[in-house]
Amino acid sequence: MTAIADYHVPAEKIIEARAVLIADELDRRGIKLRRVGRRTLEGPCPVCGGTNRFGVDTVDNVWTCRRCPPSTVCPTIY
Ligand SMILES: [Zn+2]
Repeated sequence: MTAIADYHVPAEKIIEARAVLIADELDRRGIKLRRVGRRTLEGPCPVCGGTNRFGVDTVDNVWTCRRCPPSTVCPTIY
């Protein structure tokens, strides 16, 4: 797992980003995902562009991509 310090983002920005609901931020930026269950959304990865590897758990507010490093920070801050 990549440490937060490896991204060179100030700690206060990390805290601010974690307070944002990932699904809301992606929707605000026009990134459309499809619902695939009660708590999961899937669609193209906004970081690497992969079309079959990105998902958001809307209950735990975490995203995963099978190519990008694991993180609980909204991917749109990169
Ligand atoms: Zn990705």
